[in-house]
Amino acid sequence: MTDFSALGLHERLLRALTEAGYEAPTPVQAAAIEPALAGRDLRVTAQTGSGKTAAFVLPMLQRLMDKPDHQVGTRALILLPTRELARQTLAQVEKLARYTFIRAELVTGGEDFKVQAARMRKNPDILIGTPGRFIEHLTANNLDFSGLLMLVLDEADRMLDLGLSEDVLRLAALSNPEARQTLLFSATPGPRSMGELIASVLREPQELAVNRVQELNENTRQQIITVDDVQHRERLVQWLLANEQYDKAIVFTNTREQADRLGGYLTNPSLKLYVLHGEKDQKFRKQALDRLRNGDISVLVATDVAARGLDISGLDLVINFDMPRSGDEYLHRIGRTGRFGSHGLAISLVGAHEWNLMASIERYLKQKFEPRVVEAHPGAYKGPKKLKSSGKAAGSKKSKLKKKRAQTDGKVSAAAPRKVPAKKKRPAPADLKEGFATPKRKKPD
Ligand code: AMP
Repeated sequence: MTDFSALGLHERLLRALTEAGYEAPTPVQAAAIEPALAGRDLRVTAQTGSGKTAAFVLPMLQRLMDKPDHQVGTRALILLPTRELARQTLAQVEKLARYTFIRAELVTGGEDFKVQAARMRKNPDILIGTPGRFIEHLTANNLDFSGLLMLVLDEADRMLDLGLSEDVLRLAALSNPEARQTLLFSATPGPRSMGELIASVLREPQELAVNRVQELNENTRQQIITVDDVQHRERLVQWLLANEQYDKAIVFTNTREQADRLGGYLTNPSLKLYVLHGEKDQKFRKQALDRLRNGDISVLVATDVAARGLDISGLDLVINFDMPRSGDEYLHRIGRTGRFGSHGLAISLVGAHEWNLMASIERYLKQKFEPRVVEAHPGAYKGPKKLKSSGKAAGSKKSKLKKKRAQTDGKVSAAAPRKVPAKKKRPAPADLKEGFATPKRKKPD
């Protein structure tokens, strides 16, 4: 097994690593640190929990130590999609930089702008933050990236999903791509616009796919439970939280309304939980996460955006109240459990209208989820009667309708006017009736 000293890291960093209890590099650290120290641009596919933060922080610190500080401007910049992630990254930077003279500062929304600007004027070596707040500082003329040595785009896929691509490109354009090194990390291949981002920001990047999709989450058991309607989902979640063995659990919902409603349904004297979504303010979010980390509470009900990038150790149960909208979203959710050496359980509740989505996620992950029945709350829906080879439901209403139409068309003579059947309103699936349907367009909360 490689150890950190074999990677050519500075003595002061090795000391901090020993103190942090990092004995050996994780696979992403073993793969990325050497080429990053050699100055290569990198495009790394690795999930949260793989140790990717240290994989870019260590080479960043070493390069800053190697290059004497003659300049006034920022020397390294880390852009991330959320405040929490920025705060967690700052904590790791401070931990690993404790025996160096390198200083880092947080630049995120939710903090006093003027105080932040004053701190930035004291020339910290590293700035860590979210693109939106940096753009505000750009407008106020507070940024000097002209001498940037290193740019890191962390969770780049999430930044693109959140529509931050333009801001990221603007900020990257403030420094010289020839003079700086750029490292891009993402948990998934990301949306189509990832290609454009890579082409315009990275220079002949080395690609490192440390976690291929199918290799992810081998420490996590993945189960599905078929469900009838919202009430059935609520009963199941309540039962699972009362009967599963776990240390910390997170329940994901697709909408804020459902998160609030479920939080209300589940709360009782023996189950303390917090509900996190985009409408909760920064103070509340921080309190919720601190209390979960300390073990004061054991359950978080959250929407995807609210929970993005959280690093909570001991999270061993993830419940998908609704099926996430894509394979990547699924990976982000369950990537929070079964981390580095520990085991986890991910349970997805699947209604009739979500079966095909679930099957396509299975295909994307090249994994089969384990079906499970909770005897206490069995439900009527047991999955489609017949399956196609893809795992999707066979004989969907659409194809039956097509078949029928083709037969009718055959009977009608060329001269006769075609009878258009009156449009029949399709009944909403049970789950949609309560008004908690998955919105068609993804709206960040
Ligand atoms: P990350 O993927 O960067 O969010 O890291 C996930 C967790 O793994 C963090 O809590 C780190 O402190 C921890 N970690 C990172 N690298 C190592 C390592 N080499 N050994 C042990 N723990 C690590």
